[in-house]
Amino acid sequence: MTSDSLTSAIESELVRSKWHLRFAGELEARFECDTQPQRNRNMVVAGLISALIYCLFLVNDFSFRPDAFMTSVLLRIGVMLPIGLPILWVVYRGAYGALRETLMASTVVVAMIVSCVIFISSQAPYSYLDIFSFGLILVVGNVLYSLRFQYALASSLMSVAIMVYFVVGYEPMPIEVKRLAIFTIIAKAIFTLIANYRLEASERKAYLLLLRETHRAGHALRSNAELSKLSLTDSLTELANRRQFDALFNHYWQQAVEHRSNIGLIVIDIDCFKAYNDYYGHLQGDHCLKQVAATLQANASNACVVARFGGEEFVVLSIGQSHEAVLEHAEQLRQAVETLELPHHGGTERACVTISAGVAVLRPKPGVNAPQLFRAADQALYEAKRQGRNRVVMINSLDALSGDGLGISIQ
Ligand code: GH3
Ligand code: MG
Ligand code: MG
Repeated sequence: MTSDSLTSAIESELVRSKWHLRFAGELEARFECDTQPQRNRNMVVAGLISALIYCLFLVNDFSFRPDAFMTSVLLRIGVMLPIGLPILWVVYRGAYGALRETLMASTVVVAMIVSCVIFISSQAPYSYLDIFSFGLILVVGNVLYSLRFQYALASSLMSVAIMVYFVVGYEPMPIEVKRLAIFTIIAKAIFTLIANYRLEASERKAYLLLLRETHRAGHALRSNAELSKLSLTDSLTELANRRQFDALFNHYWQQAVEHRSNIGLIVIDIDCFKAYNDYYGHLQGDHCLKQVAATLQANASNACVVARFGGEEFVVLSIGQSHEAVLEHAEQLRQAVETLELPHHGGTERACVTISAGVAVLRPKPGVNAPQLFRAADQALYEAKRQGRNRVVMINSLDALSGDGLGISIQ
């Protein structure tokens, strides 16, 4: 189910005023799936409590119908438990939907049959008074188990019919008491079914509201994540953008300070890109930028950030690498772009797209900051351009920045 169709399914279920409780289509399956574990657990606990109380009724059997006590023991412990406990086991193991409801509803009907057989097996005076407790069986099915409404309805109708059948044929019971017993069980069936219907309706409504809230929250989270991804990614090349680079540069600088490790920066610029644009057009220029970006990304496994700094300039940041390693890496990047052999006949002598790279590597120390590293790499790039492009230049010493003596190494 897609996000939109789930939203509209929830909304239409919330506003509909149909009598039947089941949700339409997939939402019902989802409801069953989401509520199943808790519902099964609740039913098993309710079933065990009911089984215990059902057996404790032996105390009443003993006092009201001593003549049929052994029959009661046999039926309650020898019949009801061997039927009920395996059913609870199956539900405990995760019986699903209709199977679970049918099994649990059948325990209600079986309990009614067993109780009625116990009831008619005694001729003791007052034994029939017990018939007024049979409504408890309906309370168990309709309220304690909270069977889904159609199962509650079916099991209640069957239970009432069974009880009426046994009561009508039970001779020792005066007709007025029979009438009262039948009236009482029908009234209990109606009351508990109303309660059952309301319980299920509010459970379903609460489920819909919760699902809507969770869905909305998930949606908001996703949009936030998407927004922040958008705001940190360059839309053309899908590399990190300048904003993300700035944040990561600070982050890795701090890391290098803390770990006293090297931090290396390569600033890359596509050569003669204005001419490329002028010759091939801006769209083709964009395409070229994408290809160069993808090549840099693909060849930067040992870098922690590859970003588009702006225009046709890229930056590659790494930490914990030696000067030589970073210089070598920059050279690999240059070669990788050259190897693409993207034609560049934009009026220069070069026949394919190339890049120039400026490299600076340092170990942070007091008095040196991140912008200085950047300026160093940028200055090296400037030098690479000055020396004729398609080359890598590394600043060896930050002292170079302050004055004339450039500590420059050319690859
Ligand atoms: P140099 O070798 O000295 O770097 O020369 P250059 O022509 O590459 O440098 P210049 O700064 O003169 O020109 C950069 C060009 O990059 C200008 C601009 O049209 C182009 N450019 C910047 N951003 C984009 C972009 O997003 N798409 C396209 N197609 N071109 C861009
Ligand atoms: Mg440039
Ligand atoms: Mg350029």
